[in-house]
Amino acid sequence: KKHHTSLISLSFSKNPSSRRAHMTTHAATPAITTAIRRRKKIVVIMGATGCGKSKLSVDLASRFFPASEIINSDKIQVYRGLDATTNKIPLHERKNVRHHLLGEFDSSDSHPEFTPSDFRSSASSVISQIHSRRSVPFIVGGSNSFIYALLSKKFNPESDVFSESNWGEDSVFCKEQRYSCCFLWVDVSLPVLNEYLVKRVDDMLESGMFEELAKYFENPASDSVSECGLKKAIGVPEFEKYFKRFKSIDDEERSMAYEEAVRAIKDNTCQLAKRQVGKILRLRDAAGWDLKRVDATEAVRAAMDCGGRKVANIWEKQVAEPSMKIVKRFLME
Ligand code: ATP
Repeated sequence: KKHHTSLISLSFSKNPSSRRAHMTTHAATPAITTAIRRRKKIVVIMGATGCGKSKLSVDLASRFFPASEIINSDKIQVYRGLDATTNKIPLHERKNVRHHLLGEFDSSDSHPEFTPSDFRSSASSVISQIHSRRSVPFIVGGSNSFIYALLSKKFNPESDVFSESNWGEDSVFCKEQRYSCCFLWVDVSLPVLNEYLVKRVDDMLESGMFEELAKYFENPASDSVSECGLKKAIGVPEFEKYFKRFKSIDDEERSMAYEEAVRAIKDNTCQLAKRQVGKILRLRDAAGWDLKRVDATEAVRAAMDCGGRKVANIWEKQVAEPSMKIVKRFLME
């Protein structure tokens, strides 16, 4: 089981300086918490898959206010199940920060898909609850269609603002937002991210994804024709052929089917990341969102090259600290 390519499992406790930084929580005065609630302030952490959004969110949410809460905006992670395959942040890495809309829904044939409209209504009601607890909601996840649906003042469920037919068409975006937002965009240069994602797939397969998918395909429900919900998770369609034909093919065919599935997962993950960055740029350039970009390229490169304390230091200096400053300024405004 390898850990060197996992950003999320970086151990801060080995590093005295980052341990100090981690233990510095920034308590809010009553005036600030009132302002957060009245002005409906939220923090939105965006970025492609693999850039470290989940890690940054728990770092920030646990440092600013002990009670800050996270709302997942990854359209596959909202479903219950396939935790390793969909890369849900494990419980022990959540630093006691409460998470919402993470693994809460069953994808069944009666309710096959959790849509952007569903997300808009569920997430906004959770935001109201968090605000009423005088805390800051952090929206974290890679599904930009969900984030757009939640934030735009007028949302039209019939129109996919990111579809190719709307590409040069900036007027499809509603420019007004329902909340006062601080947007953090965790960015990693694409060649570095691709290299990382390819390694991450190997790590994920070794640390539970393969067994999880084997179990998933043992369930007769995986035969149903529905293409919605969890069935779309990268890993499921790619491994379908392997698991469905597993018993009827010889060793050589099986090993070829395995290699083919792994290659497809790697390709599809890199394509997902590229598409996500395209959508983020569109939200910045066409919708006019004021995204604050933090560059996690060096941290991701270090996670692949050396791991451990060096990565923790780079992450702290180049990602966590600049993000803390941005969020702090926003909350004080
Ligand atoms: P959106 O386009 O709505 O902003 P997105 O960027 O999360 O969302 P899509 O481009 O719709 O995702 O998804 C591309 C493929 O990647 C889909 O098959 C989707 O199910 C899959 N995918 C997205 N997120 C995950 C995840 N966390 N785990 C596994 N597969 C995922």
